[in-house]
Amino acid sequence: MTADRTTAEAARVPVRDDLRTVTPYGAPQAEVPVRLNTNETADPPPAAYLVTVAERIQRLELNRYPDRPHRELRVALAARHDVDPDRVWAANGSNEVLLQLLQAYGGPGRSALYVRPGYSMYPELCRTTFTAGSEVDLDDRFELSPEVAAAAVADHDPDLVLIPSPNNPAGTPVGHDAIRALHDRSRALIVVDEAYVEFAPAGTSVVALLAELPRLTVVRTFSKAFRLAGLRLGYLLAAPWVVDDVQKVRLPYHLDALTQVAGLVALEQESQFLEHRQRVATERERMRDHLEARGDVEVAPSVANFLLLRPPVDGLFDRLLDRGILVRDFSDKPRLERCVRVTVGTPTENDAFLAALDAVLDGG
Ligand SMILES: *Cc1c(COP(=O)(O)O)cnc(C)c1O
Repeated sequence: MTADRTTAEAARVPVRDDLRTVTPYGAPQAEVPVRLNTNETADPPPAAYLVTVAERIQRLELNRYPDRPHRELRVALAARHDVDPDRVWAANGSNEVLLQLLQAYGGPGRSALYVRPGYSMYPELCRTTFTAGSEVDLDDRFELSPEVAAAAVADHDPDLVLIPSPNNPAGTPVGHDAIRALHDRSRALIVVDEAYVEFAPAGTSVVALLAELPRLTVVRTFSKAFRLAGLRLGYLLAAPWVVDDVQKVRLPYHLDALTQVAGLVALEQESQFLEHRQRVATERERMRDHLEARGDVEVAPSVANFLLLRPPVDGLFDRLLDRGILVRDFSDKPRLERCVRVTVGTPTENDAFLAALDAVLDGG
């Protein structure tokens, strides 16, 4: 057969069959005055940070490949969590960590269980790795009881369980007893995605359960409380065999030398990086009080840097966007009718959001 070079469309190689109707995943990145849609921290990194990073990268030999097992960074992360470095593994954002876990433990003939509502990337990662997905519903307060957790793993017998805690989009943490139930009633790798845990009360994290639950994997990110979403750095804490297994699927030098240095410097400056957390919590509660005082908006009990809310009317997302406020729309998701999620921003941004919401709901 001769190739038809007459049109660009005819020259196209057909994409993999299961990707033909897929649209690339991601929150809209619109240029609007107030962006409260992706749960980043509004404050930039501490002023001294980039100065130190700039200094440190002078010493890099960029003609050489980076340290493949990124030992220095893993030692620093291990020290942060008081675990052995052979229990730590980092990659380009926690999304790549999650992808590597799905590549290593999911795949054809295997399945993952995740909560609903939950992080919208989990079904995407299952799709690209040909892992079957199933769901377990949180209750009306967006919580997971140990009984429901145990029944779900008994029903589905998954190879992996993916649990965001605090939950995205609801902001509610999962109790340690539910994590124990998922672990002890299954043979699965229990992946607890703690992207927002630095905003939650002390004791929310399940890192302390690592010694008790051998199949527990905790995933963390620098994108949220660490204010480094632009960096792309995340990591996992797990048994050493998990660290061995993800290396079977990683690309040869997946974590570049600049990212490794930038992560190390951030860990050295951790207390300056995280000093904003109390301000975020105060703002979150101020926003919650304002919304609840209206009497017509339901607000989920979030401990993270965002609020999921259900207004009494349809179309809130578009009507806020008309006023220059970008939030995240969940209104087409099951059980989240009319809901939007708003990130806690600067006090000025939050005021703009609250004023716009009042204007929409009060017909202004
Ligand atoms: C934001 C978020 C992440 C972070 O992903 P990165 O790739 O580290 O930026 C991970 N999990 C959840 C649930 C999130 O909301």
